[in-house]
Formats: sequence, C-alpha cells, structure tokens
Amino acid sequence: MRVLHMANGAEDRVDVLIAGGGFAGLTLAIALRQALGPSFAVALADPALGADHSQDERASAIVAAARRLLETIAVWQDVADEAQPILDMVVTDSRLDDAVRPAFLTFTGDVEEGEPFAHMIENRYLLAALEAKAKEVGVILHASAVANFSYPAMEGERPTGSAQTVEIQFADRAQIATQLLVAADGARSSIRESAAIATHGWSYGQSAIVTTVAHERDHDGRAEEHFLPAGPFAILPLKGKRSSIVWTEATGEAQRIVALPEAEFHAELERRFKLHLGEIVAVGARRAHPLGFFVARAFIAERIALVGDAAHLIHPIAGQGLNMGLKDVAALAEVVVDAVRLGLDPGAADVLERYQRWRRFDTMSMGLATDGLNRLFSNKSAALRLLRDVGLGMVDRLPNLKRLFIREAAGLVGEVPKLLRGEAL
Ligand SMILES: Cc1cc2nc3c(=O)[nH]c(=O)nc-3n(C[C@H](O)[C@H](O)[C@H](O)COP(=O)(O)OP(=O)(O)OC[C@H]3O[C@@H](n4cnc5c(N)ncnc54)[C@H](O)[C@@H]3O)c2cc1C
Repeated sequence: MRVLHMANGAEDRVDVLIAGGGFAGLTLAIALRQALGPSFAVALADPALGADHSQDERASAIVAAARRLLETIAVWQDVADEAQPILDMVVTDSRLDDAVRPAFLTFTGDVEEGEPFAHMIENRYLLAALEAKAKEVGVILHASAVANFSYPAMEGERPTGSAQTVEIQFADRAQIATQLLVAADGARSSIRESAAIATHGWSYGQSAIVTTVAHERDHDGRAEEHFLPAGPFAILPLKGKRSSIVWTEATGEAQRIVALPEAEFHAELERRFKLHLGEIVAVGARRAHPLGFFVARAFIAERIALVGDAAHLIHPIAGQGLNMGLKDVAALAEVVVDAVRLGLDPGAADVLERYQRWRRFDTMSMGLATDGLNRLFSNKSAALRLLRDVGLGMVDRLPNLKRLFIREAAGLVGEVPKLLRGEAL
C-alpha cells in the first residue's frame, strides 16, 4: 500500500479525510484542527489544491452568520480588506425595457447595530486565505482526487454499519484509512454517487452569466436585484467602484450572450444595468453557469458525511448556496468535536445521525424557498406579477416581518450551530 506522507514521516491513517478543498471542505478542516488540536489528524484531498484562482470571476455574498464563523476560525481577518459590506438592498420587479424600475422592497443591511447583513467578496481571496490557514494549522493537504473508497474486508459476513474504518484510494494510487470520510467534492460528488445516495432535483434550463463591471459612480454599498422575466439580474457591490453581476437567462440565450463580441455584449448589459451608476464597462471574464436544484436523499452513509454542494444545490437567486454549505460545516464540526471530546468515534452512526437530523430539514426548506422565488419571478404572467408585487409591497410596510426576513437570510434563525453564532468549539 502506498501511503500519504506528512512532513514528519509516513501516515497510513487519519481521523478525518475530507474530499474537496472548496469553501466547505477547507473550512471544516480548519475548524476541526483548531478545536481538537494536533493529536487529531485531519487530511484534505483535492486535485485543485494550489491552483491559480485568479481567473475565477465569481464573488459571494457572505451572510452575517457565515462571516461570524470565518471570524471565529481567524480567516475573515485576512480578507476583511477585500470585503464590501452590503449596506442596503433594493428589489424591483420590472420588464426588460421599463424606463423606470420602482423599488418594491428595500432593506437596510444591519442585523445587529453595526453588523451588516452580508458582505460581498471575490471567491479567489477567500479560497486563498482558507488554503493558507489550513496549511498553518497543520491540515495534511494532498493534491489528488479521491478515486474510490472501500470498507476493510473481515472474516465472514460483515453486518452493515460495523466497519471501524473506511479505506480511501486516491487517483495518484496513494491510500489511507480514516474513521470519517467527508464528501465536500461539489455538486457532481463522485463519493455521493459511489455511496449510492440518490438526489431529488431538476435543471432550471437557466444559466447565470457572471462578470464584473466597473462604473463611474460609487455604489454606496447598495445591492440591487431586478426580477426580469427571464430571471433575476443582480448587481452586487464589490470593493471600489465595481460590482459583481449575476445575470440569469434561459441557457441557450445565456450561451449566446457570453459569446457576443464586446460591443454587443456591452449593449445587452447596459439594457439591464441601466446608467444610474454612470458609464459602465465589463472588466472581467464572462462565464455562464448552468443552474439546477437538488437535495441528497441522505446526508450520511456508513462512515461518510456529505457537506456543501455535494449535499445540495440551489438557485443563486438569494445568494445562499455557500452559506448553506457553511451551515453544514458548522453543524458537522460541532457534532464531531462533541463526540471526540467524549472519547467517541467521530464516524459512528449515531454521531452522523445527529448531523443529518440537524441539517436536512433546514436545507429542504431553504432549497424550496429559493426554488419558489425563482418560479414566482421568472415568468411573464401578468397575474403572477400583480400577486408578487402586492406581496412585496406588504412586506415592505411591515418592519417586524422585514427584520425576520433579514435575520433568516443572514442565517441567524433556528437552531444555529455555535460557529455561526461566533462561538469557538
Ligand atoms: C453564479 C453563482 C453565484 C453564486 N453566488 C453565491 C453567493 O452569493 N452566496 C453563496 O452563499 N453562494 C453562492 N453560490 C453558490 C456557491 O458558489 C457554492 O455553493 C459553493 O461554491 C460550494 O462550495 P463547496 O465547497 O461545497 O463545493 P465546490 O466549490 O464545488 O468545491 C468542490 C471541490 O471538490 C473538488 N473535487 C471534486 N471531486 C473531487 C474528488 N473526487 N476528490 C477530491 N476533491 C474533489 C473540486 O476540485 C473542488 O475544489 C453561487 C453559485 C453560482 C453558480
């Protein structure tokens, strides 16, 4: 057996192996090491480790609860200078060529005095800071994919649920055994598939065009979401006079638009962005991301837990995908840390059951809420338009309800895991 090598020699067993070094995997690895110390070995494998993220145009809205988590694991401090607070938000319901877009819903951005409801940050800064912190706290980083996993063979029949470890085979032929395999390997998780966990879901037939726009005037920290018939067009403030655009269209139309020559692309962009921030220019690469929805039928299997997009994929309409993934991470970290401190096995079925109970219902409700929003807005029906505008208008006039929505969107409602409340494990 080839084994993973650490700086201090060969290692053929770790306590937890995390597959996937995106936001979810890296955050979990750091939180576990910080809470359980050097005697608890955490490895993370991803072929993309160390990759150059400078071409990634995506930026994320990090809601208050997720920011508290990142602050608690001492990562936020390293990226705070790059983060733009969202100070207020305007929602409109308009047709493409409407000259005026009346605001149906406005939010001012604080969840607590002086604590913005969310910050915008470019993914590349956050990923680089997470990877650096993982190294600093002693996570074993292995730049290869998990190719397969198996349970050790025993004499005779092994009753389901009785394996003491799971053995991991990597694409580079290294192997390692672990008590808990965490699938943080994204929406197309091969671990979820190998564990025979089905998903419920569908494709939206929509794609999100993502790009960055520089503009003449300051955005003053305002986020805008324009519900156009083809789907939401979001203008999200970045540091400086720049905004991140998340622009939903039917997939064929999105592909046509991203392939347009510069001048024609600019015309399509300006038709939707308008000129309230002065002249605009697209400064980043453009890419279309196909959009879908699913929730895994189970978040756990024998010695396996799914987190992040491996467990669920939602429409970016409310900017909640990554925030939901960080909720999984905070809940799983908490149940694993509690178990290990009691001398229990972190991959035992009852420990993983606790994680699943905590996260699955919440995920289903958030997933269906974002799906409902998209269906309600992405259409041309005049009756639905009337209905949603009356609804939004009413919400706008009810400050307590609005406050509840803001706290919900900020991840601060329900049974919130410690890390998301800003408490160390
Ligand atoms: C247009 C758009 C805008 C969005 N905006 C927001 C937003 O504003 N706010 C928000 O909260 N969310 C947003 N999201 C969602 C968010 O980007 C995702 O939810 C988040 O990136 C998922 O992180 P993850 O770590 O679960 O998975 P990923 O980022 O997909 O990472 C998975 C990792 O696993 C690795 N991997 C794959 N297979 C293997 C394997 N076999 N072994 C090891 N490693 C493997 C991959 O290389 C990758 O690095 C948006 C999404 C889109 C498409």
